Amino acid sequence: MNNNFEDPYSVAVKQLKRVIDYLGLDEYVFDMLKTPERVIQVKVPVKMDNGKTAVFIGWRSQHNSALGPYKGGVRYHPNVTMNEVMALSMWMTWKTALLGLPYGGGKGGIKVDPRKLSHRELQELSRNYFAALSKFVGIDLDIPAPDVYTDSQVMAWFIDEYYKVTGYNIYGVVTSKPTLLGGMYTRIISTGLGVAITAREAAKRLIGGIRDLKVAIQGFGNVGSYAAKFLSEWGAKIIAVSDSKGGVYSEKGLDVEKLFQVKRDKGSVIYYGDAKRISNEELLTLDTDILIPAALENVITERNAPQIKAKVIAEGANGPTTPKADEILHERGIYVIPDILANAGGVTMSWIEWANNRMGNWLTEEEARRKLEEKMISAFNEHYSYWSRKKDIDPRTAAQALAVEKVVEAMKLRGWI
Ligand code: GLU
Repeated sequence: MNNNFEDPYSVAVKQLKRVIDYLGLDEYVFDMLKTPERVIQVKVPVKMDNGKTAVFIGWRSQHNSALGPYKGGVRYHPNVTMNEVMALSMWMTWKTALLGLPYGGGKGGIKVDPRKLSHRELQELSRNYFAALSKFVGIDLDIPAPDVYTDSQVMAWFIDEYYKVTGYNIYGVVTSKPTLLGGMYTRIISTGLGVAITAREAAKRLIGGIRDLKVAIQGFGNVGSYAAKFLSEWGAKIIAVSDSKGGVYSEKGLDVEKLFQVKRDKGSVIYYGDAKRISNEELLTLDTDILIPAALENVITERNAPQIKAKVIAEGANGPTTPKADEILHERGIYVIPDILANAGGVTMSWIEWANNRMGNWLTEEEARRKLEEKMISAFNEHYSYWSRKKDIDPRTAAQALAVEKVVEAMKLRGWI
């Protein structure tokens, strides 16, 4: 999927430059924002089950803290690089600012294929990574969460390791934990729900409602699967989904419950049956109303952007569209709900969970979910009206411009600029 590789950090910097120029901000502001405030590299040795020690490399990039403590996930993936983590941390700064959360942006990662590790090896990897970072994280300093191939179990090890190293047993040092350890069930579905909400709101304004619209989703992990579930509950037709093994397509629509079941029992949606097999690449250019890239970066490029037929693209993944593709889509009148808005449901629910932990865990799931929906809808409205007023810029530049304005204002208030 990745022969169009474009370094994510250079993409993030290009996007920032475009925003700085658009807002007419000083070169100095660009310099302040293009580099993370701090990047920590850690060495993570793990005693493997075969008795040998393997050494993995991990990072935590802390991009900006003007609006509050750094916030963002940790990914475990064989292709993780420091540049990728730096880019993702910058996007987290824009995401939290756009949503009006009291956070800056951070991101972590380890270059590892966690699917090849045993449960015990994974635990040791996670604990050693967090121990190495323990001086740089904290409830008011930097609050990690899951990302690609990490989950609530990894977060439970993180809290426990933090307890061992610092002596403080604090739920709020990470978010998206198991419910018994201060997590909330809604966090699991929150990113997918947020994607679905923004797609629904965009469809209302641009196509006249979500009912009966065709939706194609690349990626059937935590984000894509729940986006499919909510959109189909609201009357949309899920015509195609895929995962790392490939995809399935059916003009009459796929049964989402059955997709969940096939994925759980057989490990991939390709075993769905009663549907045409398609590739991840083909899925992107299907005749659909809404397209949801919910896998990895750099999948919508200048090569396939001219063939995309969707009217709305909701970015479940972080960074799925390259800057060149953005330009093409904008020219072609395709509305892209940018990642920092479309997939912000996850971090927004993290904020609710973190606030709840600080208050002693008394919020109900209903209250949390209501708050999440409110926040997503109001961020969508703020973005949409800003973009509609400006029209001369693409929706990503509009969303990032809104976010950069807030971060710059906070930096001024703090006397940084
Ligand atoms: N990893 C998610 C993201 O990219 C969630 C981050 C969080 O909850 O802090 O937004």
